[in-house]
Amino acid sequence: MRSQIQQRLDAVRDRIRSAEAAAGRPRDSVRLIAVSKTQPAEAIAAAYYCGQREFGENYVQEALAKQEKLAHFDIGWHFIGPIQSNKTKLIAAHFSWVHSVDRIKIAERLSDQRPIQLPPLNVCIQVNVSGEATKSGVAFEELDELAKAIAALPRLRFRGLMAIPAPTNEIDLQRASFRSLRQAAERLSDLGLDTLSMGMSDDLEAAITEGSTMVRVGTALFGPRPRRDVAAFGAEGASER
Ligand SMILES: *Cc1c(COP(=O)(O)O)cnc(C)c1O
Repeated sequence: MRSQIQQRLDAVRDRIRSAEAAAGRPRDSVRLIAVSKTQPAEAIAAAYYCGQREFGENYVQEALAKQEKLAHFDIGWHFIGPIQSNKTKLIAAHFSWVHSVDRIKIAERLSDQRPIQLPPLNVCIQVNVSGEATKSGVAFEELDELAKAIAALPRLRFRGLMAIPAPTNEIDLQRASFRSLRQAAERLSDLGLDTLSMGMSDDLEAAITEGSTMVRVGTALFGPRPRRDVAAFGAEGASER
């Protein structure tokens, strides 16, 4: 009998493969990042035993607690949440990717604080593709300047762009948002980008059609998230929102 996590992982991998094939893209051209925010370390371990190796987390203290429990696992950790400047030092030391950089000040701190014994930190710039006033992410108009500045930082490796479009069930609207991110990345091709971090549980097909290279999937793998205030990690992260 296969476990529930194995079934969900198989289902998500099937969705990714079908979308790759439908778009005429090579198999395994899209990396799956399992988003484990608010899920316990046991859920990560279960996915790991099913072959999943890359995990995304949104809250620093919560992530560090799980990393400590899973220290003997060979996991690639991706930070995908909003970044407060007083958390950059921990992020620089404990993650190999950061998807959510949207200010030069944060990028400079991550570069300065990346431990010298580690390779450069892989970063993506988060872009506010839907233009929502409350959303994280840099506006398209400010992207080029930020991208050039980040590409020049010595301890960062600027890999690409990330977005979380406003949710919609309309596949054409989903595709339009993802296409705008891809086109922005194409305009920055001089900087050698190779990553488009786009697509989540409900819109990964549209993202893959438009060129996603990393999908960040939580609910479809782990089921509904426990509410944070009742999750085991307590109140420490409330201020990280
Ligand atoms: C929570 C989260 C996801 C995963 O969303 P699901 O809809 O659960 O797949 C992906 N990216 C970011 C930045 C997130 O915060």
